[in-house]
Amino acid sequence: MILIIGAGIGGLTAAIALRQAGFEVDVFERAPELKEVGAGIGLSANAMRVMKRLGLMQQVVERGTVFKAATGFTWTGRELSRLSTNLADVPTVCLHRADLQEVLYSALPRDCVHFGEQFVDLTQTSENVTARFASGRTATGDALIGADGMRSKVRAQLLDDGEPIYRGYQCWRGVCRLEPGEELTETFGPGFRMGVIPLGRRGTAWWFCANEAEDAIEEPGADKTKLSRWVENWHSPIPDVVAATDPADIIKGGIYDRVPVRRWSDGRCTLVGDAAHPTTPNMGQGGSMAIEDGVVLARCLAAHSDPAKAFRVYERLRQPRTARVTNVSRYYGVMGQWSHPAATWLRNALFRFGSGRAATNNFRRFASYDPYEVGLKAG
Ligand SMILES: Cc1cc2nc3c(=O)[nH]c(=O)nc-3n(C[C@H](O)[C@H](O)[C@H](O)COP(=O)(O)OP(=O)(O)OC[C@H]3O[C@@H](n4cnc5c(N)ncnc54)[C@H](O)[C@@H]3O)c2cc1C
Repeated sequence: MILIIGAGIGGLTAAIALRQAGFEVDVFERAPELKEVGAGIGLSANAMRVMKRLGLMQQVVERGTVFKAATGFTWTGRELSRLSTNLADVPTVCLHRADLQEVLYSALPRDCVHFGEQFVDLTQTSENVTARFASGRTATGDALIGADGMRSKVRAQLLDDGEPIYRGYQCWRGVCRLEPGEELTETFGPGFRMGVIPLGRRGTAWWFCANEAEDAIEEPGADKTKLSRWVENWHSPIPDVVAATDPADIIKGGIYDRVPVRRWSDGRCTLVGDAAHPTTPNMGQGGSMAIEDGVVLARCLAAHSDPAKAFRVYERLRQPRTARVTNVSRYYGVMGQWSHPAATWLRNALFRFGSGRAATNNFRRFASYDPYEVGLKAG
């Protein structure tokens, strides 16, 4: 029996991949039910390849929009760059996070996910690992996977390495009923950025980043007023997208990551997704990394009967890739949030005359990864 803490994208994908590899799993989620929260999420080819192998690709495509390009603009509407996302054997898709969670959840038997169970701590012996929950429940298994996100309690116990690092900007997200376009766009202003994402039957999703203090507090309901003011002169359809969003549906959160670590396992316990390698969202790869982790982890456990050995191989395979995504994403975010006029001029010039190719190369490198192809030899 493998215990998984957290029923987010990482925990649910790991559970499906492990069951397909013949393992029994129990997933423990602190929320009382699957939440209808979040906004748009993009799944590039590396994640969609996993969806295809798990038999879920069609369901994901049906719930979202397949898009073939991502275009960068200045806030005045001048095109800066154009990235073709149509590079691979599988499509690149945007969908609502709640729809993705639902697709993953429906691929598991109902009695495999236990809601309302908040992980508190774990103890392990040479034979097994036991997790304790706030409800008083305990669960014992052969191994434990912490898939409990950016502020993982499992990580705190395994690594004790403090809080994630705030990267200097806040992000607002929302969904509105406007007819979706065909492309993903990212628009740059001085210290501000906005992405607009086609979301199929759900309409249009968006995100907006602004340089702000970590503890900046909003008056209740004030987000929309502030965002509308910031984008009032931006190119179409940005002001309309904000105007069409219900203020109650706007979610705000700080942007964090961690400096990549070399090891995130201890004995029979390991981590996946944001718990292991939290990244800023600038490459749109955090969820896709969590999806890849689940597959590589399941393959390692199938290949090595000793969980401690399997987790060492898993870590060795995943660390270089996830560290690279985290670092590239952080640098892209730093440049994206530049606000000084000279810096924004430089950024626009870089995007127009060089970074288009660099972005395509990075995208191609990240999207071409196939977690079913990586070798599993012990190091
Ligand atoms: C603004 C923004 C935009 C993004 N856009 C993209 C994108 O386009 N594409 C992409 O691939 N990624 C994107 N990401 C990143 C992506 O959202 C994350 O990387 C992904 O959600 C990580 O999945 P996870 O399962 O590891 O963690 P989470 O999604 O955080 O799930 C963790 C789960 O664990 C549960 N949990 C937490 N603590 C406990 C506990 N103590 N006990 C039990 N359960 C617990 C939580 O309730 C949650 O259900 C974006 C992120 C942000 C912030």
